[in-house]
Amino acid sequence: MKITEHIDRAKGETLFSFEIIPPVKGRSIQELYDNIDPLMEFKPPFIDVTTSREEYVYIDKGGLYDKKITRMRPGTVGICSSIQHKYGVDTVPHLLCGGFTKEETEYVLVDCHYLGIDNVMALRGDAMKEEKYFRPTEGGHTYARGLVQQIRNLSEGKYLHETIETDDCSDFCIGVAGYPEKHLEAPSLQSDLKRLKEKVDAGADYVVTQMFFDNDKFFEFVKAARENGIKVPIIPGIKPIAVKRHLQLLPQVFRIDLPQDLIDAVDACSNNKEVRQVGVEWAIQQSKELKAQGVPVLHYYSMGKSDNIKAIAENVF
Ligand code: FAD
Repeated sequence: MKITEHIDRAKGETLFSFEIIPPVKGRSIQELYDNIDPLMEFKPPFIDVTTSREEYVYIDKGGLYDKKITRMRPGTVGICSSIQHKYGVDTVPHLLCGGFTKEETEYVLVDCHYLGIDNVMALRGDAMKEEKYFRPTEGGHTYARGLVQQIRNLSEGKYLHETIETDDCSDFCIGVAGYPEKHLEAPSLQSDLKRLKEKVDAGADYVVTQMFFDNDKFFEFVKAARENGIKVPIIPGIKPIAVKRHLQLLPQVFRIDLPQDLIDAVDACSNNKEVRQVGVEWAIQQSKELKAQGVPVLHYYSMGKSDNIKAIAENVF
């Protein structure tokens, strides 16, 4: 079922959902199940599964190094299908522009359709690890908007190189990313909102936000989005701080601000167990306020460990 249908059916009740990351190649899918199992009691109508970009690896050839490309965490669509069948919930595979040609994307979408996956998240992806700026893949999309358009075209039977008349067109519900504190490359929040509107106009059905730690930033973002004509549901993304290093890492990687009270509370912790508890308590307060304001879904970034998400959900749902 589509995410937008789940939201409609909830009739104003806030839903619980979360995002997981595929295990590193060679590890077992059981690890994922072990993290999903404790969260199922909160009845997530859908679970997102991220996609990781390709990376360079250097193979030692007796002193000389061969540069090769690999994917450390493949298997997003396969994991989505397994989860749908094991738990009977919808899944949302993340699709990236970076690292994929349009043809490869088309094949992934055909797989999704055959597997009964009704939702996809359309994202540009970041620069590769060794690169400073995002470089579009040859034959791929430059911005998420193009990807949204490609996915939407399939609903009309428009494939890349042919139009196919059929009664069995895919009709994906498409999510896109939004940034309450603006995307790091955007010259301003207003300009970023215009780009978000373009994604919605191209066919996106809902928005999931980047993490934020100050709810006012989210409320202002939603207000500005509405003023810019963006009418689709906007789902807040919540990440509980888990280790002290997040104080430097999160602002550096995502260009987001952390509230001083949160920084002080984390600074006062003597170990990461205490930090994890602070992160949980902060996320509970954030979640309660967002829920009281009627957000359609609270979407948690689980980052592979679910104990903190469970502790939050127990207090909020
Ligand atoms: P876009 O919407 O394409 O925007 C990228 C930048 O370009 C923005 O600054 C925008 O303002 C600007 N822009 C857009 N259109 C134009 C234009 N026509 N001309 C000039 N500028 C333009 N990354 C992963 O690798 N894997 C994941 O699974 C993943 N999941 C995510 C889930 C969520 C909820 C979020 C918020 C992010 C996720 N990301 C993921 C990160 C995402 O890929 C990065 O933030 C990426 O840098 C931008 O992606 P986007 O889809 O927002 O890009």
